[in-house]
Amino acid sequence: MSLRKTVVWGWLAFAAFLCVGCGGDDDVWIEVDEPGWVVANPQSHRTYEDTFRPIALPSPNAQRTASGAPGRAYWQQRADYAIDVELDAARNEIRGTATVTYTNQSPDPLPYVWLHLEQNLFRKGSLGSVAHRGSGRFNTTGSSSLGYDIEAVTTAAGEPLSLAVYDTVGRLDLPSPVAPDGGKLVFKIGWRFRIPEDEVMRFGMEQVQDGVIWELAQWFPAVAVYDDAHGWNTLPYLGNGEFYTNFGTYDVAITVPSDHLVAATGVLLNPEDVLTPIQRERLDAARRTTSTVTIRGMNEVRDPGSRPKAGKKATWKFRADDVRTFAWASSPAFIWDACSTGGVLVQSFYPREGARTWAKATDDLRFSIEHYSKTWFPYPYPVATNVNGREGGMEYPMIVFCSEREDPYDLWYVTTHEIGHNWFPMMVNNDERRHAWMDEGLNTFINWYASIARYPGRPWPGRWRGVEPSARFPDYGDVIRDPRRQPIETVPDRIEDPQIGTTQYRTVAVGLVVLREKILGPERFDAAFREYIRRWAFKSPRPADFFRTMEDAAGCDLAWWWRGWFLSTDTLDHALESVRSMPDQRGTMVTEIVVKSVGRMVCPAEFEIRWDDGTTSLHRIPVEAWATTDRYVFTLQDRRRAAAVRLNPDGGWPDVNPANDQWVR
Ligand SMILES: [Zn+2]
Repeated sequence: MSLRKTVVWGWLAFAAFLCVGCGGDDDVWIEVDEPGWVVANPQSHRTYEDTFRPIALPSPNAQRTASGAPGRAYWQQRADYAIDVELDAARNEIRGTATVTYTNQSPDPLPYVWLHLEQNLFRKGSLGSVAHRGSGRFNTTGSSSLGYDIEAVTTAAGEPLSLAVYDTVGRLDLPSPVAPDGGKLVFKIGWRFRIPEDEVMRFGMEQVQDGVIWELAQWFPAVAVYDDAHGWNTLPYLGNGEFYTNFGTYDVAITVPSDHLVAATGVLLNPEDVLTPIQRERLDAARRTTSTVTIRGMNEVRDPGSRPKAGKKATWKFRADDVRTFAWASSPAFIWDACSTGGVLVQSFYPREGARTWAKATDDLRFSIEHYSKTWFPYPYPVATNVNGREGGMEYPMIVFCSEREDPYDLWYVTTHEIGHNWFPMMVNNDERRHAWMDEGLNTFINWYASIARYPGRPWPGRWRGVEPSARFPDYGDVIRDPRRQPIETVPDRIEDPQIGTTQYRTVAVGLVVLREKILGPERFDAAFREYIRRWAFKSPRPADFFRTMEDAAGCDLAWWWRGWFLSTDTLDHALESVRSMPDQRGTMVTEIVVKSVGRMVCPAEFEIRWDDGTTSLHRIPVEAWATTDRYVFTLQDRRRAAAVRLNPDGGWPDVNPANDQWVR
């Protein structure tokens, strides 16, 4: 809205103000997610009371307190897996058996247990193939030969259990309920599936010069989460919405052809069985340096001497504690290098096609881990691995997949993003299927600062997830002007790419940058954000826990910001209504600046005055200025006259309309 138009609207005063921004078609309802989770309805007209009213959150209880911390009765379930798995490279098939120990720490007896069976997404006619048939993101035609073939489910004693499969979830019926408060269920399950050849869906396979690279994820039946917010979390795996899983210990024995190298979540337990003496020596050297050491070089890849003399198969054993899932990769084509930082073994596996671009990949990974550890919370795991294969960019505990082979900066960005997910959600374990912004958005926020630290002055990367290149950040223009914009709190399976990238990555990141740089200031923000991670590391926060913790630890009511930026599609528009410099009755020069808050979102207003002597001064109107009115008269006694005034002088506020931000005498 232009300045002139604003003045015209101005005399209509309150009544006119109420109507500003009430568009109609572009208004969006927010989905009600959790009990009591009802947010401001953006279709209603804004009132001042609405703007500042506390956002409605679920009632605090013994599990989740009013301060946003886990309560004295907080509980979560645990699932420990011992798995034997074989990659049959010739048949392109996975065969596995697992003993699963499920610990029910809830106060409720559980007569059945739900499993996630994500491979069934690739079956012909799967719910995901219907929901995302138009996305083009993955091949949604499905195949009758894909998906899980579950071979046997039994109790620990070998008694058969029945498993009812419904698309990507399955209900395991039990002879007697799993007892509450620590009761255990041990069951055994066997399965096989053909690895999809055409699909790339957070894992995949790729033929490269020196063989095939297999990346494996969502490769075993996993117990769903039972929690205090939703009971069993049985939302199906449709493709966009990611995961919500239990923490546990994984003991995994992976059998592959003996010419393969295997990278996986966890610590390698039997290097003497699967590595040559020289590789073990190099690995020991890598544990003592922050400089990258080659473990298997490009010229060794085709050399049979780079593998221990053994039979046709080799079994790699890994163990991981306190992880929410397990992923791995296997290939005869891998080059391997590694270094170490703060006791963490940092490594990369890539084929010769990636060698040039991946020369600094391990160092990028090391830098990311050091940056996030120092800035936010220490990396909690002993290993971090980056694998170059077909999957574009995907995160798992201690291991990430990045496909980039052309641009080292794009590889940096995907790497720092995917490893950043080890903070959100691998450690701070949010429900990704409902609240993707809690991991993608918070992670994108920390990636921004890592990228500034690593490559100062570099633009936001361009070719990743449809994000447009931009030379400065926060570049909120595309976020706030996008006509398809949806509230951040929208279930990801109700959004298609590339809109997900805007809604749940960048909008959240920009909102947090504004909160840090402009609203709270870095010191106040960082203390609160670190407190959020500290409280919820290895636990599962809900959106309310994030909002409450940030307010509690920053000591600041932010309802107006959560409502404006996170929970609605409201926009901010500050406008200069008038500027006058004139002597008052006693002859003192007084400058009067009238600022209006035109949009439905409120924010503090900042403006710069350029005086007639050429000097400038910066001023700020706190958000409380809009507590009862949309118009604020700012006066200043000064011997000088104002020559020009500019609202939002550094562009740091997400003002949707810069056209009404300037006044020149
Ligand atoms: Zn991500």
